[in-house]
Amino acid sequence: AKAAGKNRFLRFHPDMMTALVERTDLEAGLQMAIGRSEISVDFQPIVSPRMGRVVKFEALARWDRENQRVPPSVFIPLAERSGLINDVGTEVMAQSLKHMASWLCEDPSRSLSMNVSGVQLQELDFAEGVLKLAETCGVGVYQLVFEVTESVFFDADCNVIKQLSRLREAGARVALDDFGTGYSSLGRLQDLPVDIVKIDKTFVSMVRTGDERLPILSSMINMAHSLGLTVTAEGVETHEQANYLMGLECDSLQGYLFSQPEPADRLEHALKNAG
Ligand code: C2E
Ligand code: CA
Ligand code: CA
Ligand code: CA
Repeated sequence: AKAAGKNRFLRFHPDMMTALVERTDLEAGLQMAIGRSEISVDFQPIVSPRMGRVVKFEALARWDRENQRVPPSVFIPLAERSGLINDVGTEVMAQSLKHMASWLCEDPSRSLSMNVSGVQLQELDFAEGVLKLAETCGVGVYQLVFEVTESVFFDADCNVIKQLSRLREAGARVALDDFGTGYSSLGRLQDLPVDIVKIDKTFVSMVRTGDERLPILSSMINMAHSLGLTVTAEGVETHEQANYLMGLECDSLQGYLFSQPEPADRLEHALKNAG
């Protein structure tokens, strides 16, 4: 009993030390990443089966840290905790608009989708910054989509709603990312200030043969449509999944079946076939 009691005070296990040092190290690295041009953006096409072409690209941040790629699932949460997400987000947005400006300008029905963290939406001048950037790049605000997860509405902060409203008033659209993975019910959807829902890939991956009945998937799509929202399915990897989703009148599809996220200069083919 005495030994156990002693152990209670041994809270700092060597593994924890290693983890802490690694995190601190990573954070210091991220702080310098922008100045060192280590942050870049890949783009993944989103296709409209009805129009038979690429109608949108999603911008996805990349960090090549001393030539070693750190996945966004690691550095985005780190950036959110440390507040660096504001700088990272601004950098990603600036690069995305720069790369996509001419593609967007060629056809007003094309759009660019960008992920935004709740931390960024707490900035009082977030929307103004975005509108200014769009103007500088000559891109129509109506061509921009901002992807948020439902968690941004939970810890709302009326400024979050204010920033999103400002963007929507200016013509931009808001997409609810990872739809179905959160805690809110389908019924809550009508209260959220969104225009698009992105069905999470976990639901898409339930389609295996294309012959199964998946009431959840059809309910999500029907519910969204009845509220006047547009539906995008994420993580579409097979023809069976694409066909199934088209049968449910899903408006657009995104996933490895069409393309991996790629740097803009490697997307020439997709960009050409977009018109
Ligand atoms: P997300 O927004 O849900 O992005 C979709 C993720 O699914 C991307 O992972 C994409 O590469 C991956 N994906 C696309 N098609 C398929 C598919 O067919 N199958 C599978 N299994 N996966 C597919 P990625 O690029 O690693 O990004 C992970 C997450 O990091 C994103 O998830 C998003 O939450 C976050 N993220 C990325 N870039 C940014 C950013 O600029 N800002 C913010 N706030 N978050 C970002
Ligand atoms: Ca997203
Ligand atoms: Ca998603
Ligand atoms: Ca996600």
